[in-house]
Amino acid sequence: MEHTDVIVIGAGPVGLFAGFYVGMRGLSFRFIDPLPEPGGQLSALYPEKYIYDVAGFPKVYAKDLVKGLVEQVAPFNPIYNLGERAETLEKEGDLFKVTTSLGNTFTAKAVIVAAGVGAFEPRRIGAPGEQEFEGKGVYYAVKSKAEFQGKRVLIVGGGDSAVDWALNLLDTAREITLIHRRPQFRAHEASVKELLKAHEEGRLKVLTPYEVRRIEGDAWVRKAVIFQNQTQEEVELEVDAVLILAGYLTKLGPLANWGLALEKNKIKVDTTMATSIPGVYACGDIVTYPGKLPLIVLGFGEAAIAANHAAAYANPALKVNPGHSSEKAEEKAPA
Ligand SMILES: Cc1cc2nc3c(=O)[nH]c(=O)nc-3n(C[C@H](O)[C@H](O)[C@H](O)COP(=O)(O)OP(=O)(O)OC[C@H]3O[C@@H](n4cnc5c(N)ncnc54)[C@H](O)[C@@H]3O)c2cc1C
Repeated sequence: MEHTDVIVIGAGPVGLFAGFYVGMRGLSFRFIDPLPEPGGQLSALYPEKYIYDVAGFPKVYAKDLVKGLVEQVAPFNPIYNLGERAETLEKEGDLFKVTTSLGNTFTAKAVIVAAGVGAFEPRRIGAPGEQEFEGKGVYYAVKSKAEFQGKRVLIVGGGDSAVDWALNLLDTAREITLIHRRPQFRAHEASVKELLKAHEEGRLKVLTPYEVRRIEGDAWVRKAVIFQNQTQEEVELEVDAVLILAGYLTKLGPLANWGLALEKNKIKVDTTMATSIPGVYACGDIVTYPGKLPLIVLGFGEAAIAANHAAAYANPALKVNPGHSSEKAEEKAPA
């Protein structure tokens, strides 16, 4: 059984920042996350998209924000238990005990749940060939634009991800066709305008209302058969990649059974980010309270509140208020 002062469940952006604050308070902590790398949704779903609403960054790639968060927390020697999911949470005496999907048991005096949208997986469209070619030309996220270099890409979807990636890959892919099953797009109006302009200029092709009939190939995807869903008319497209961006499914996963007060699958917290279990705090996309918005910047603020309260819970000798980090800084700005 391995012990730290605090356990942070979820190493997404908000969990990482919560860990940083726990470290600033001089406490030990570990992250637990089933994904192979830290960063949550930013690493898994949109590493190469720009984020425009993080204070102080006019624009920042999601992957660069994660890199900065990992670097910021590094001096506090975090333990990363990646590739394992927190399965149970129990209290024994004054210690919390968390068991994981790898059979590990970790203890801590306080716990911060920053599990985001819970376990998330891409929404599949159920077309024949989709499963067979997953990892062989069928993608559910763009991990690196380079993967699409010089390829003929079919993009499926009508939301922001699909529209943004169609535009974003214009300088990378050889040919882009975007299909959506409805004539209207759910993406931001300005992006849709830009997409339709690119279509009119012949830089990519947009087809609606079209769906995927089947995906074919050999060792790799070679062809997608699409159909107009009103006339059933089929079109064969020679493609090297099918990028399915139809949203993702989220499940709370095991933490639904931890006895935390929930509302609509989110953890209810008070203004100190305390959950219904004393000593368990929560922050980020996983929480709900009046006025909550699922934004990274808000999650950072919640992480600071959750971490400082968790630190004071774990070590009652600590005050909740951390003071100003600038007073602790050893480096002075150059004159
Ligand atoms: C395409 C896209 C674009 C976006 N653009 C923006 C934007 O421009 N600006 C903005 O503010 N927000 C944006 N968001 C939302 C933003 O990504 C989220 O608000 C943010 O990721 C929330 O961070 P989090 O750490 O709370 O959760 P997450 O990023 O979801 O991380 C939670 C982590 O917890 C882990 N976890 C889940 N269950 C368990 C468990 N049982 N045990 C251990 N770990 C667990 C998950 O694996 C995950 O790594 C966007 C989201 C998407 C999908």
